[in-house]
Amino acid sequence: MKRTTIRPENVHQAALLRLLRDGGRSRAELGDVVDLSRSKLNVELDRLLELGLAEPDGLAASRGGRRSGRVRLARDIRFGGIDIGATSIDVAVTDGELNVLGHLSEPCDIKEGPAVVLDRAIELLGKLSRDGLFTDLSGAGIGVPGPVSFAEGVPVVPPIMPGWDRYPVRETVGQALCCPTVVDNDVNIMALGELHAGVARHVEDFLLVKIGTGIGCGIVVDSKIYRGVSGSAGDIGHIRVDDLGPVCSCGNSGCLEAYFGGAALAREAVAVARSGGSPYLAERLAVAGTLTAEDVAAAAAQGDAGAIGLIRDGGRRVGQVLASLVSFFNPGLVIIAGGVAKLGHVLLAEIRSVVYRRSLPLATGNLPIVLSELGDTAGVIGATRLISDHVYSAN
Ligand SMILES: [Zn+2]
Repeated sequence: MKRTTIRPENVHQAALLRLLRDGGRSRAELGDVVDLSRSKLNVELDRLLELGLAEPDGLAASRGGRRSGRVRLARDIRFGGIDIGATSIDVAVTDGELNVLGHLSEPCDIKEGPAVVLDRAIELLGKLSRDGLFTDLSGAGIGVPGPVSFAEGVPVVPPIMPGWDRYPVRETVGQALCCPTVVDNDVNIMALGELHAGVARHVEDFLLVKIGTGIGCGIVVDSKIYRGVSGSAGDIGHIRVDDLGPVCSCGNSGCLEAYFGGAALAREAVAVARSGGSPYLAERLAVAGTLTAEDVAAAAAQGDAGAIGLIRDGGRRVGQVLASLVSFFNPGLVIIAGGVAKLGHVLLAEIRSVVYRRSLPLATGNLPIVLSELGDTAGVIGATRLISDHVYSAN
């Protein structure tokens, strides 16, 4: 029998748990950052110890008077993170501070449908449980590669996810794992991962652009995801960059994604290989019969002019869209992430040059544009961050 997830009883306890998620600290240090009298703080902390949500962690170094007792989150708290991509599943188990204790990844086709894919995700978590990493989860977060109604926990008309429209993802996974569960778009959870443990650790307002099979943008305002009225904020892959452009998976033409998603890049690479523009890609195509974004990255690393040209073209179009977004949003940081981001410094240089040239100096004067630091773990860490925000809140 699984135990029920224990939640904080009030907003003070919830705030303390969120502080402790960033690491244990002394009662005196907590007193410095929360708006509570010392006696009230100690009452709430003692209650968290009683509930089993936190535990004592020795004594802090003296600050001149009596040594203050340290408190940390209970060591046995576990969260699950599931990051479902178009072509892969990642799952991870973390402790209460969201340190990854175990991480599994395998190829998976989202088109196989929700029953098969979610079963697979739950089975992978089961394997981590059998490895001894957890018996119960306090909660699980899930990311899927399409638009999500966050309040209902269901995907809504996702273009690359046939069979998933309004499928009860949150309910299905929550019942299988017997814990509170939240579902969000994969780009949003990646942004939360970078906020918790990556390049955005000390940035409150930033954008994360994911360039993978599709293209999307996570928008973080005041350290929280901005989802818009219906959850589609940041769906920049379908911004039109050319009226006469190629047809997109959404049915329109000239979308950014139709130029520079993973599928578009593979298609362009084949065209360049066949036209004789890249000996390297032509050879790869002859051997494998197909080309991927990884082939383009490998060719560019060899100095192949055709591949570098493809990356520059794509980077320029992403840069055009991003320049508008930067003028509109004035972020403190832009992160480039996703499979195509592995194209690396050629892509980054092109995006930077277009954004810095086209946006106003006041918006870009202090704007780093960087690659993701967490790579494949950004999504799973972000998923656990999202569910821990939910569990560590007073309901
Ligand atoms: Zn489109």
